[in-house]
Amino acid sequence: RAKDAGGTRMQFFSAEMSVETKNRMALELDLREALERGEFVLHYQPRICLDDDSPCGVEALIRWNHPSKGLVPPNVFIPIAETTGLICKIGNWVLRQACEDVQRLIDRLGTDLVLSVNVSPVQLRSPTLCGEVRQALQAAGMDTHRLELELTESGLIEDTDTSQQLLRELGDIGVRLAIDDFGTGYAGIAYLRQYPIDVVKLDRAFLCPTPKADGCLDFIRAVTEMCHSLGMRVVAEGVEDADMLRQLLRSDCDEAQGYLFAQPMPLAKLGDYIIDRQAS
Ligand code: C2E
Ligand code: MG
Ligand code: MG
Ligand code: MG
Repeated sequence: RAKDAGGTRMQFFSAEMSVETKNRMALELDLREALERGEFVLHYQPRICLDDDSPCGVEALIRWNHPSKGLVPPNVFIPIAETTGLICKIGNWVLRQACEDVQRLIDRLGTDLVLSVNVSPVQLRSPTLCGEVRQALQAAGMDTHRLELELTESGLIEDTDTSQQLLRELGDIGVRLAIDDFGTGYAGIAYLRQYPIDVVKLDRAFLCPTPKADGCLDFIRAVTEMCHSLGMRVVAEGVEDADMLRQLLRSDCDEAQGYLFAQPMPLAKLGDYIIDRQAS
């Protein structure tokens, strides 16, 4: 078996290829086996409600525990998973694992948490996604309204019939839909009217770099007001320091997420974090 894999590699790699190309191809071959080998892990980053400072949700973030490279971040392998189509299987694993993990935590702690899961634009083109979402929820015994799917603007502007129908279906079964990295893509904002979006996640590019940054707070306030008037909640991502938080508290932003509160952490640590945070 190992010999086979070696042979395959020899075929693919030729002397003219750049180191970068070779690395990418080697990673791609490893990625094909990673799911079966159980090399993916989920970390969870808490989301904090700004009105009462309590943890109200968690975002599942995938990592790849590569046998020789160690923990590989998603920005490195998700794009490869997308171009190879592997993302659909990986994404389904994330959904099932995250629903199971978080429902168990909810049962144990008796707390109210929303689980958000990132969904690739490629998954939105798959007619099986809605069924997979239902199955993941059912297998975990999770209420539909607890699950939030984070979509990117680029996934929505493609606007195929499949994705249109899929988003409506997901909205109909009660899953929440969020726009991740809002305002950083090339999309206009017409999609906010077209789709049943519940949550907008403001990218850290929106946050004020310094407390006195010109017009920055006004900008956050205006965007938040627009989202609220359209019935959407607003979450600020990438909140790293107390100054940023102070700015957000002066806007009407609903939730915040970032290193100031917690880094993404393994499930084993999440329970303690939530208990501690609730107590304080
Ligand atoms: P994202 O969904 O926008 O997730 C937020 C990213 O910002 C995470 O990086 C998180 O660790 C990081 N972050 C959190 N707080 C802070 C902060 O205070 N400062 C800064 N500078 N960064 C912060 P991560 O985990 O490396 O994930 C990167 C991206 O990979 C995610 O961005 C998401 O687009 C993608 N991704 C992660 N997990 C999945 C997955 O299961 N499926 C898919 N399709 N994509 C995923
Ligand atoms: Mg996200
Ligand atoms: Mg984001
Ligand atoms: Mg981001």
